[in-house]
Amino acid sequence: MESILERITRGHFWDFHGGIHPPEQKTITSSKPIKQLTLPKQLIIPLQQHIGREGDLLVNIGDKVLKGQPLTLSTNPMVVPIHAPTSGTISAIKNSVIAHPSGLTQLCIFLDVDGEDTWRKREVCTDIEQLSNNQIIEKIADAGISGMGGAGFPTHIKINTKPEINFLIINGAECEPYITSDDLLMMEQSDAIVDGIKIIDKVLCPAFILIAIEDNKPKAIKALQQATAGIEKIKVCAIPTKYPAGGEKQLIQILTGREVASGSLPIHSGIVMQNIATCFAINEAVRHDTPLIRRVVTVTGRALNKPQNVWALIGTPIKFLLEQCELEPLENESQPVIMGGPMMGFCVSSELVPIVKTSNCILAPDKVEMPSAFEKESKEVECIRCGQCSDVCPSQLLPQEMQWSAKAKDYPQLDKLNLSDCIDCGACAYVCPSQIPLVHYYRIAKAEIREQQQLDLKAEKAKVRFEARKLRLEKEKIARQEKHKKAAAARKAAMNKATPEAAGAKSAVAAALARVKAKKAASNTATPSVSETQESDLATNTDNDQKSQVSAAIARAKAKRQLKNNAAVKTSESNDANASDTKTTQQQVQSETASTQPISSDDKKAKIAAAIAKAKAKKLNKSSEANSADEVDKDIVTEKPSVQDAKKAKIAAAIAKAKEKAQAKNKAGASSKADEATEPTQEVAEVSSTTTGNNEGGDSEVHSSPALDKKAKIAAAIAKAKAKKKLKEANSVESESSDNMKDLNEEEKNSSEKLSAQQPDESK
Ligand code: SF4
Ligand code: SF4
Repeated sequence: MESILERITRGHFWDFHGGIHPPEQKTITSSKPIKQLTLPKQLIIPLQQHIGREGDLLVNIGDKVLKGQPLTLSTNPMVVPIHAPTSGTISAIKNSVIAHPSGLTQLCIFLDVDGEDTWRKREVCTDIEQLSNNQIIEKIADAGISGMGGAGFPTHIKINTKPEINFLIINGAECEPYITSDDLLMMEQSDAIVDGIKIIDKVLCPAFILIAIEDNKPKAIKALQQATAGIEKIKVCAIPTKYPAGGEKQLIQILTGREVASGSLPIHSGIVMQNIATCFAINEAVRHDTPLIRRVVTVTGRALNKPQNVWALIGTPIKFLLEQCELEPLENESQPVIMGGPMMGFCVSSELVPIVKTSNCILAPDKVEMPSAFEKESKEVECIRCGQCSDVCPSQLLPQEMQWSAKAKDYPQLDKLNLSDCIDCGACAYVCPSQIPLVHYYRIAKAEIREQQQLDLKAEKAKVRFEARKLRLEKEKIARQEKHKKAAAARKAAMNKATPEAAGAKSAVAAALARVKAKKAASNTATPSVSETQESDLATNTDNDQKSQVSAAIARAKAKRQLKNNAAVKTSESNDANASDTKTTQQQVQSETASTQPISSDDKKAKIAAAIAKAKAKKLNKSSEANSADEVDKDIVTEKPSVQDAKKAKIAAAIAKAKEKAQAKNKAGASSKADEATEPTQEVAEVSSTTTGNNEGGDSEVHSSPALDKKAKIAAAIAKAKAKKKLKEANSVESESSDNMKDLNEEEKNSSEKLSAQQPDESK
């Protein structure tokens, strides 16, 4: 059986499943040398241009930078730094649209080019044998090199592998139509590429090095054969042209006949693959201390007057490249611009999208060569299950089934269908008669799955951290408890020893315990705190206020009742008077007029009494308020008499008011009678019925003044009795105000009964 090397030497290669042969369209640019362009006015440099994280910013707005100066710092292996592609000033650091199918934005550094193209200081290495492998890897990492074939994986990680490497494959297949950047680079920079391959060889020490180039690039094959002549280890392999032969797994299968299993990496089979352009960049970095700040880009398409390969600085806006290649502007519609080739590329959303480390082609087609790019609406129709997509799929997948699952967002099913093995080659979409943009659906699904996986990963990490913390705290707790136990045991042991020190320690502990007990006892017997005293005083004052208000209300009720009783007496007297003779009217009026003298003196007395009572009440109210507001700390016992006085005064005032009202009423009645007496005889006759009674009533009023005085005295006596009783109750037991109310009502009832018992005698 032929060995791999024998087959390679004889040009017998393996084949991979599927694949297509689209029109190559490479001749548009393959015969033109790589052009060095003038410097653009501004560069837009995205911070992240590789698989991994962006670096930490090293520059600020307004900083002047030199060509090759690092703009970001690598803080971990997955961070690849970026560098200033030319000298100039940082004019902005902000989000800008980047090279991505979704047109998403990312943090970019805007560099205003000064046109001088001044390099930073560089250290050229003339002999790589002087460098250790670690130094080489470090130089590659510092130069910010990531895979330039499209994947963008950090190169320093890829070449820093421990397992034994059988094959180092240099990928120069460049299978995608239109793209000729690698072809031209191999033609023009074959020696530099081989120098780069030698550097990788030094680090990896593979058994064999295979440079794979499609047989549609004879000049490149020839150039590399010449550059590698005499190096046994390196074989230049002219492989059959078939899309996508440049796919990593497909190329490995073509060269070695080995299939890299799903979910597995080439390194697991002892194979490492690097792109031609990456090898060139490695040589630039290690030998010339030149970071990755430029790359060859194929600017092609029939919409351009001068399609060509150019050395484009990283960060160059697509617009500038199209201008340099003389884009023919279209009338009434915008020109579609595709980043990448026609199979794997995507339409850019803005001409400001910059060139990044993985950009190899800018395609500006016309309507004839790519009509689908100008269609505003998709011409997609239902899948007819023709199976052509499965036939051409190099990864041996089921594109039509994946398409349904992607549309339904059935991610578990997509996982079962090995969506992750899809290389986005676009062969399936190319052959689909239903014009279904299959790759578009796969890309969306992949992005969503990736996002979900990152979230899951974050959650998993958080869970692990939480569990670790819990375990640590538990361990610390146990250790603390153990430590305390040991310390207690040691103390106990020391105290139990029959030494003077132990005895002293024991007595000290006993003394401390005694002190604690004494303190506790002292605090228990201490007087209540100020706040407690204030609270109790306030509560007492509130009770007293309530009691005084209740007493005042009772006094008012009594006065009203007396007023009612008086009115009742008058009514009965007036009824009796109706029966007397009208002839006596004149005498009665006279006697009534005579009776006005004693009434007015009573009135005066009552007014004076009322005024005094009011003054007393006011004074006591004031003192009561002052006591409750300012003298909260005052003893409750000293407060009670003043409150009781207030009650008495209020009762007396109420009684006096009642008297005054009754007398005023009587007086008004008498004066009206006197006025009526001067009226004509008929009116006198009409009034006589009332005046007769009033006469007697007037007599009774003459006698009623002492009667009212008596009533007032009785009421005052009752009030005094109540006050005394309350004072007693307050001093003895603080009973509920409701009980007081009951007592007071009973007393009031008794006194009113007494009063009513006395009144008939008085009326007589
Ligand atoms: S090629 Fe298109 S129409 Fe045919 S099976 Fe695949 S998806 Fe369906
Ligand atoms: S894009 Fe994916 S599914 Fe379609 S042919 Fe390529 S590998 Fe297969």
